[in-house]
Amino acid sequence: MKGALVFAVLGILAAPPQEGPRDGDAIPIPAGSVLRAAAERDAPALAFIDETALLAPLEKRGEWVKVRWESWVGWVRVAGGSEEPPEWDEPEAWSPPAPRRAQREALVKKLREILGPAGEPKPFGSYVSNPGSPRAYLRRAFTLATDVEDKALLRRLSGACVSVARARVALGALPPSSATIALFSRREDAAAFLTEAEEGWREGVVALWAGAPDLLQRIAHDLAHALNRSHPFVQANGIPGWLDEGIAELVVTGSLRALCESASAESVPLAALVEEPVTCRGPAARRARAAMLVRYLAYRRGSATGNGWTRRVFLGEDSSYGSLLHAFGGDAATLERDFAAWLSRQ
Ligand SMILES: [Zn+2]
Repeated sequence: MKGALVFAVLGILAAPPQEGPRDGDAIPIPAGSVLRAAAERDAPALAFIDETALLAPLEKRGEWVKVRWESWVGWVRVAGGSEEPPEWDEPEAWSPPAPRRAQREALVKKLREILGPAGEPKPFGSYVSNPGSPRAYLRRAFTLATDVEDKALLRRLSGACVSVARARVALGALPPSSATIALFSRREDAAAFLTEAEEGWREGVVALWAGAPDLLQRIAHDLAHALNRSHPFVQANGIPGWLDEGIAELVVTGSLRALCESASAESVPLAALVEEPVTCRGPAARRARAAMLVRYLAYRRGSATGNGWTRRVFLGEDSSYGSLLHAFGGDAATLERDFAAWLSRQ
């Protein structure tokens, strides 16, 4: 079940359990439900529930119930089955910074050359972020260029894109502009395209052969990279390897314990982790340690002192240990003790 692992990330990123009615009061909200801002069919969508959830209704109004799902509170229509996932009404256009626009247009042109009309990127999913996020109302567009006709696969792919987008933001990343997934039914077409886009995730275009092993996991990983690097601040300032790779590892890994095990049993101080060079093709233990660092920073994000350091690094702030230490109160011994204690609880 390839999709299951991608969605498993939601488990580790979910908000802590909320105080509320007893379990007996909870009702299943099916995957595919849309969480809306009001109990009306055309109210703005807040989130797309991509995995069936058992939720306690906070309020009921006709065929609608108000629920808390992860960091959102909104209304879901429960009578008559779940809603169909909404179509994009006005997909936000990809707007990369000027210097990169020409490179991306060349990639899309190549897609059209290889796939014909199927190579034209088309909208295929929708996602609206938490209204409390730094940008009050954000719509994200993922587009798809493909000659694959397996609708079930494309639906899972759409869900995976939404999961990756949400997981990234939960980890402190800047919201993305958008990205295009290029999925090829023929291996030679994928190879022909990838000779242009060496990494498979250049300029917001994530490309893969549909028959590749672990397809959804690989797309999720590469999409995280594409989104991390698509932001103008990152294009201007770069991004530390541990942050880019740590996020890409976390969006496909369901268990932090498994990461900790592969990261080696001995405890590595934060001082070493922020300096460690990490790349996609480098040692797996380093990638796992980078993921642990990103996860710890997300855990500390809500604290008074550490709030938002990851996000500030995305915006170009110095990512050195000194900067981290300053953000977390300045006392190295206290910080390292807290990190070691957190690690031992995982
Ligand atoms: Zn990677």
